[in-house]
Amino acid sequence: MRIGFGYDSHRLVPGRALVLGGVKVPSTLGPEAHSDGDAVIHALIDALLGACALGDIGQLFPPSDQQFRDISSRILLKRSLGVLAEKGFQPRNVDVTILLDSPRLGPHVDQMRSVLSADLGIPGTAISVKAKTREGLGPPGQGRVVEAYAVALVEEP
Ligand code: MG
Repeated sequence: MRIGFGYDSHRLVPGRALVLGGVKVPSTLGPEAHSDGDAVIHALIDALLGACALGDIGQLFPPSDQQFRDISSRILLKRSLGVLAEKGFQPRNVDVTILLDSPRLGPHVDQMRSVLSADLGIPGTAISVKAKTREGLGPPGQGRVVEAYAVALVEEP
């Protein structure tokens, strides 16, 4: 088994949809990003790639590349899993923590787990998503940035 860690953050701005863990969350603000800005999936991709020492999301999908403009991060996740599978790596379980005070994410966590279960091809019981607040402190606490941390356990060939 190998373990990987990932982190991502996106500034929240008006006029963008807030998508986290592949789930559209009602919000007046959304991530400023080249792709759909799904910080949960971006952190998860870095954890998966990190476990296998296969680089990071920026190397795999350069922001300068127009083909990734506004792309669903679920597509980036599927492509990343393909890179792992080519080398015989298989994800076993993942754990994600999201930091954002507003909007509240708790009601959406189970749906995120279902989406990630389908995309990763592992049972929902092996997928944890936790929504935390920052008690009003700092940019995440004021709803001006979304942050996500992820760890992934991957079985090596
Ligand atoms: Mg990102």
